[in-house]
Amino acid sequence: MTIPDFSRLSATALAAKIDGGNVSPLEAVDASIARAKEAAAGRDGLNLLLWTDNDLARRDAAALTEGMGKAGNGGRLAGVPIAVKDNIATLGLPTTCASKILAGYVSPYEATAITRLREEGAIVIAKTNMDEFAMGSSTENSAYGPARNPIDLRRVTGGSSGGSAGAVAAGIVPVALGSETGGSVRQPAAFCGIVGVKPTYGRVSRFGLVAFASSLDQIGTFARSVDDAALAMEIIAGLDPKDSTSSAHEVGSYRDQYLSLASSPMPLDGMTIGVPKEYFPENLDQGIRALCERSIDTLKSLGAKVIDVELPHTSLAIPVYYIVAPAEASSNLARFDGVRYGMRAESAALRDMYAETRSKGFGPEVTRRILLGTYVLSAGYYDAYYKKAQAVRSLITQDFRDVFGRGIDALFTPTTPTTAFAIGSVSDPYEMYLSDIFTATSNLAGVPAMSLPIGRVAGLPVGGQIIASHFGEATMFRVAYALEAALGGEAHQ
Ligand code: GLN
Repeated sequence: MTIPDFSRLSATALAAKIDGGNVSPLEAVDASIARAKEAAAGRDGLNLLLWTDNDLARRDAAALTEGMGKAGNGGRLAGVPIAVKDNIATLGLPTTCASKILAGYVSPYEATAITRLREEGAIVIAKTNMDEFAMGSSTENSAYGPARNPIDLRRVTGGSSGGSAGAVAAGIVPVALGSETGGSVRQPAAFCGIVGVKPTYGRVSRFGLVAFASSLDQIGTFARSVDDAALAMEIIAGLDPKDSTSSAHEVGSYRDQYLSLASSPMPLDGMTIGVPKEYFPENLDQGIRALCERSIDTLKSLGAKVIDVELPHTSLAIPVYYIVAPAEASSNLARFDGVRYGMRAESAALRDMYAETRSKGFGPEVTRRILLGTYVLSAGYYDAYYKKAQAVRSLITQDFRDVFGRGIDALFTPTTPTTAFAIGSVSDPYEMYLSDIFTATSNLAGVPAMSLPIGRVAGLPVGGQIIASHFGEATMFRVAYALEAALGGEAHQ
């Protein structure tokens, strides 16, 4: 029997085939498993997936087929295989955050985002590789080795959600989940040439997402098209009684809004898009700048008015992020002490057991963050670092409130300052931190932002970023959908 190739099919098209009875969930799952095998094969295996259980996925597919009956009605993602970052709790597959300290850990409950996707018929086929505890920008900080970029095997996928981005780019799944604290969905999406969405803080429940920095963390979606990424976001968004920081703000249908404009020649008519000059520094890669300019011209041709704006505190985002995020991480990661989860070192005395478990269980970047975070929170330094950083964070947030308060609907910027770099080429942690220079701002401010492919430089994908105001996802998707359609094949050239 030949296994069909769904590797370029959208989630919506695949779900329609399955719901219509033309493809069975089992066929879709088997196609995905075959693709995953191909991607893992050989010396140059992509190393995108950490944990799989093909029998479990097939059982889920069979259960769905039974539940669907003859009339279809399998849900908006009927039988669609999905991949999930390894810091999002799933039943039946481990949740290890790509860390040795959680080796073998299987969560007794699942994340709300997963429940919602499964209720729409999605089938989890794998947990994906990532930087340990989501700390990193390349997926090189995984305890299980770096993921490789499907576009160029010598290069990183970006991170920290690199395995999920790579799995979508390689055609293993049409949709995947990642998480964002400072750019971990948008940056790998840009590096792998796909779409990545970070919602407004509070838009998606964090229940079941292993906490890194709780005031910044959000689950995000990956797909090969804006429409699929928006659909998955629409499904996982919304209030959840299990997460007190999730918002009651109405979700509505993101898709209805842009689909209703799909045949309009000027789908962005009446919109104003701001271009912040701080995101186009003089030393920005010329190729990336040129592609952004092409996108800006395209936005104008779609009816948008484009104006220059300023976000004056942008340059402070990295220093602020690298105080706030490690501070929260040092507190959140205190729970991994060998008592309740994962591995436990063999020392007889309790204190020694804590120390040994943590020294052996955490990798070097996680250790660095815990030390940094503990330092900035310690008596005597708290005011000088943490409190100051929080004050500057308010200024960064105010920058966004100011531009969106002045009638700007969305902002357009590059997603990253570079294209995917070679594995092993960035050894200075500070240089790695600078990968997030255009993305960390929106996490600090809590505004929604996404990346979509806008072209290639020397064969490597470049992402364009669209940022909207708090709970402005519908506006963000409207701009992205129109730009994607207008760029067409050029987005991948
Ligand atoms: N690269 C950033 C960091 O290392 C962001 C990570 C993330 O968004 N999870 O912290």
